[in-house]
Amino acid sequence: MVPEAPKVRTGKKVAVIGSGPAGLAAAAQLNLAGHTVTVFERADRPGGLLMYGIPNMKLDKQEVVLRRIKLMEKEGIKFICNANVGDNVEPQIFLKEYDATVICTGATQPRDLPIEGRNLKGVHFAMEFLTANTKAVLAGASSPINAAGKDVVVIGGGDTGTDCVGTSMRHGCKSLVQIEILPKPPMERAADNPWPEWPKVYKMDYGQEEAAAKFGADPRIYLTTVKKFVGDEAGNVKELVTVEIKWEKNDKGQFIPKEQPGTEKTRPAQLVLLAMGFLGPEQALLKEINVETDARSNIKAEHGAFTTSIPGVFAAGDCRRGQSLVVWAINEGRGAARECDRFLMGATDLP
Ligand SMILES: Cc1cc2nc3c(=O)[nH]c(=O)nc-3n(C[C@H](O)[C@H](O)[C@H](O)COP(=O)(O)OP(=O)(O)OC[C@H]3O[C@@H](n4cnc5c(N)ncnc54)[C@H](O)[C@@H]3O)c2cc1C
Repeated sequence: MVPEAPKVRTGKKVAVIGSGPAGLAAAAQLNLAGHTVTVFERADRPGGLLMYGIPNMKLDKQEVVLRRIKLMEKEGIKFICNANVGDNVEPQIFLKEYDATVICTGATQPRDLPIEGRNLKGVHFAMEFLTANTKAVLAGASSPINAAGKDVVVIGGGDTGTDCVGTSMRHGCKSLVQIEILPKPPMERAADNPWPEWPKVYKMDYGQEEAAAKFGADPRIYLTTVKKFVGDEAGNVKELVTVEIKWEKNDKGQFIPKEQPGTEKTRPAQLVLLAMGFLGPEQALLKEINVETDARSNIKAEHGAFTTSIPGVFAAGDCRRGQSLVVWAINEGRGAARECDRFLMGATDLP
């Protein structure tokens, strides 16, 4: 791969806020179109969840992510890290100093579990654990949040939970349990889930396969939630109490989890990782610039147009559609770049 800088510059300045796959895709395309692109990233390295979410064993940071960012820098894109827009960077500069802005800040607001003992040491959001781990991998050091020799409980049975399982296995955890509030999926497609829909069937991902190979069984337990965390005298989590649940309809016809009395179990846990999904984009910046949001608190912008309620400001990726996938973020970043180029030049050749 060699850098391909544009031959002609338009003289237009574009700011991209956030350097995940949406921001990187938008920046690459806008640079290709000849605009001068600056990417603002609040973390110490660019890449978003490509850098600090998806673990190194799934996506190599040096060989893939940083190599691509270096190529982009050589193509003329400027990355400013430790630049938290709305905190240490004044958001109004975009409206004053740039001809257009693309917001790609992701959907990074984690779902919390505000139960007794939540503040004990050793109870962390998944992203705190995964970020600390990747920083340590890149520094060739041991992670400050470490699963080595510990009984680990991961709360949440999704992909983020799986990455916590895989990372804990690599640290050398003593035991591992992954708690899922939903029922175990069927082994074969249900009647209301025909082809070509995505098959909602039981599967083991890499983390569960690794845990099963070491500990003898899939670490997931279903239809279960956590009632409280219990600490020792030093304020460290030492165990947690789980309870089985049943999904029942309430008087509005909505399914709600109902705890089953007498099913409480106390389990050892010196490291608890909360991986219960994300609630949408962080709101502080969106409120400060007064951009319109939708009913799910994402930035309001049509897919295809990507224009927000502020002229010249576009939105792409998880901050527009909610937590999703890298391919969608790239699709949206490229689409927002196309519409941004059209806004700046009156026409566009970008795909
Ligand atoms: C643990 C985990 C594993 C995943 N694994 C996969 C996978 O294997 N495959 C897959 O397809 N998808 C995966 N996903 C989902 C995928 O990573 C996201 O859908 C994708 O990264 C979204 O891209 P984005 O650019 O919209 O946002 P993000 O990647 O979230 O990037 C947003 C960036 O904006 C920055 N930012 C936020 N606010 C500000 C601000 N005010 N100022 C400056 N910068 C700011 C953030 O620091 C971040 O770097 C995973 C997600 C997680 C959490």
